[in-house]
Parts: sequence; C-alpha cells; structure tokens
Amino acid sequence: MASTGTATTGLRDITKMERIGAHSHIHGLGLDDSLEARQSGQGMVGQVKARRAAGVILKMIQEGRIAGRAILMAGAPGTGKTAIAMGMAQSLGSDVPFTMLAASEIFSLEMSKTEALTQAFRRSIGVRIKEESEIIEGEVVEIQIDRSTTGLGQKSGKLTLKTTEMETIYDLGAKMIEALNKEKVMAGDVITIDKASGRISKLGRSFTRARDYDAMGSDTKFVQCPEGELQKRKEVVHTVSLHEMDVINSRSQGFLALFSGDTGEIKSEVRDQINIKVAEWREEGKAEIVPGVLFIDEVHVLDIECFSFLNRALEDDLAPVVIMASNRGITRIRGTSYKSPHGLPVDLLDRLLIISTTAYTEPEIKQILGIRCEEEDVQMTEDAKDILTRIGMETSLRYAIHLITASSFVAKKRKATAVDVTDIKRVYSLFLDEKRSVQMLKEYQGQYMY
Ligand code: ATP
Repeated sequence: MASTGTATTGLRDITKMERIGAHSHIHGLGLDDSLEARQSGQGMVGQVKARRAAGVILKMIQEGRIAGRAILMAGAPGTGKTAIAMGMAQSLGSDVPFTMLAASEIFSLEMSKTEALTQAFRRSIGVRIKEESEIIEGEVVEIQIDRSTTGLGQKSGKLTLKTTEMETIYDLGAKMIEALNKEKVMAGDVITIDKASGRISKLGRSFTRARDYDAMGSDTKFVQCPEGELQKRKEVVHTVSLHEMDVINSRSQGFLALFSGDTGEIKSEVRDQINIKVAEWREEGKAEIVPGVLFIDEVHVLDIECFSFLNRALEDDLAPVVIMASNRGITRIRGTSYKSPHGLPVDLLDRLLIISTTAYTEPEIKQILGIRCEEEDVQMTEDAKDILTRIGMETSLRYAIHLITASSFVAKKRKATAVDVTDIKRVYSLFLDEKRSVQMLKEYQGQYMY
C-alpha cells in the first residue's frame, strides 16, 4: 500500500515508515532564497545541480504551473533520487499530500493495476476544507475590532483574547466590550476573561499602539464590528485526500478501512460523487484543491498498460505532480519487446522534465555519513569515518549507511562509546555488499539451488 503524507490524517503504513527513516535526516532541499543550492543544507549534501532543478520544479508546483507534466529523476542507485524527492516533500509543507509508491507495489496489490494507480493519484490530491467552528476553551483567538463603533476611540485595533471557559465567540465578543469599558484595555492587549466572574486579567501586550497595526501591512484586515457582536468565528482548515474521501464514502466502515489499509477497489460512481461534491464546495468557496506529489520509485518496473494510464491520467484536471525515479539506462519497456531510455515509452518521456543525479565525491560521501551518524546518534572516530567513506566509495553509499547502525551495535557490545575501525572491519566482514555477494555466488554457484 502506498503511504500518504497528508499530515492531518497521519496515515502511513509501517513498511513505508521504515523506508522514510532512511531519509529522516533530510529536512528540505537546502536552497537559499534565490533557489541556489547550498553545498550542504537541511541534511542535503552535494548533488547541487539536481537540487537546483528540483527547486525550480518546487516553485512551479507552488505556483500551480506544472499541470499535466511529470518529472523523472534519473541516476545510478544511491545517488539521492529519493532523498531529493523527500526534500521536495518537506519543502511543500505539511498539508500538501506526498505519496510514495514503489512501482512493484502496483503488481502486488489485490486490485487491478489501474485501480492501484488511480488510488495513488487520488491519495496525492488534497482537498483543503474550510469550516467555521466554535472556539475551543482556552484557545487564543484574535479579534479585530473597530474601536470607533465600540465607542472606545477612533483608532482601529486588534485584541488578542484568551478564552477561559468560553463556549462561543458570541460570549467572548460581549465580554470583550465589557472588558474594554471597565478595564481600559487597549488595542493590542492580551487579556484573559473568566466566564463565570466576567473578570479580566491582562497577560501582556503584543502591540503597544494601534498604529503598529498599520505597519503590519496589507494582510491585516480590520472588520467593522457592531457593538457587542460576534467579530469573526475561527476558521478551521483541514486537508484530506480525495482517496480518503472516496474510502470514507464507499463503505459503512469507511474509517476503519482507512486504518487497516484494506480499501479494496472503489466504485467509479463513488469517485464521481466525490468529484461533484468537491466541485460544489470549490464553487461555494468552502474548499480548495491542493495538488500534491506522487513519487513513483523504480518506475521502469511498470508496464506499458500502466504507462498509457499515466499518460492519460496526467491530462486530468485533478492530477498531482508525478515524480518518477529510475536507475536504469536503455532497457526494455515491460509488456513490449521495445527498448527505450529508462524503460519508458517515448510518448511519456516526451512529457517529462528529466533531472539527473550524479555520483558523489569522497568528501560528499564522508559528509553524508557524518550527518547519518548524528541522525542515528552514533559516535564514530575520525579514522572509522574515513574507512567507512572508502567503503562507501567502493561499494555504495546505501551499504555504507547501513554499516553505521550495525557497527554501533558491535561497538556497544564491546562497551565502547564510539565506533572505531575494528567495528567497521567487523561488520564489513559480516555483511556483504552487492559486489562481494555476486563474487561469492560465482565462486560457490554449485552449492545453490537452481
Ligand atoms: P535507488 O536508485 O537505489 O533507489 P536513490 O538514488 O533513490 O537510489 P537514495 O535512496 O535517495 O538513493 O539515497 C541513499 C541514501 O543516501 C539515503 O539514505 C539518502 O537519504 C542518502 N542520500 C543520498 N543522497 C544524499 C544527499 N545528497 N544528501 C544527504 N543524504 C543523501
């Protein structure tokens, strides 16, 4: 099952959590304000060109100018394709859905390939729903008043009120006016009103003069407020994915199905209904669409049927930004006898903006390993780091990263506080990297089963 990054629901499945763990040190793309990639930043090291390109894509996503396109991250294994996609997800903000899908999952699910892809697409589209709600007790709310209408002077101002046992903002509005009259509360004061006694206490001042608001720029809106009346209800915004809406509406135990991940196939009528509902809400200004990102790893594993589905689905109004990754060169397109770059059909390739990642230098590998040590809370001597870096250069970055956790276990066993060269050597001999594993297979071929 694919996981979704829709923050408000917090739904992720366990296997994905682990994979994401491998990138837990990534907090963004590490770009500066002019979208230039810092040599290292937000957990990202090197790969400057690819990160810069990813930054441009990010801007296009944020400005909604990338509809119908997809991105291909192409590069050798372990060159940071997934890491960069994660960095993009982090920069997009918590309510922008980010779905990760390994192409092979499409074939392992108990549903048709196109259904699985449709679900992945709809997981990656958020619906930001706006609702007005009652104020929750004890919450800090901001109330803007026009003091001219409250008879408290001519200046507009803003009060930040903290509700205590207040049920609704109606109460709050009335108490506020009372408070203003009685206690000479000034605009900008932060006050607490006790509902039972009506007593107010000042908590401090966020602004000293009403004029300070003018300096806050055009974002600050002053709304006319008739005396004692409701100023504005708090707007609650939450984001759910289209897929979550489909699931909840497709069976009686909708919510449970979401948690178990066993959503089954969803009828197209349900999706149509949801689309109509969402369109209505959009028109009424109650909801807006948040196109998210669908990341498809090992995309060359998809077959020609999936590719033609993708081609069509990207045309849809409600398409997310699709980022694919492949570490293959020219290879056969599954389901055909043709070869093509990255195993993708030419018509799909034509839609793609391709970002390529390149091999890391030794200092970059060392820096990434250092960041991972910190992330995993592992102390390591400089000599051990040097050896691990060499291993990373000769085998793969991913293998070297794996050895960090393993070597720290070994170091702990000998009661050492820091991983040293001996620990690295030990785990290097215990766990084979791909090259040595192939070598071993060749040497002992006769002893394996066919
Ligand atoms: P594959 O083709 O095998 O899927 P990949 O290109 O997606 O590989 P990643 O999984 O992104 O490679 O990278 C391997 C590991 O190295 C991950 O833990 C990742 O977070 C880390 N890593 C890769 N590149 C960077 C980087 N530039 N900065 C920091 N960490 C990185």
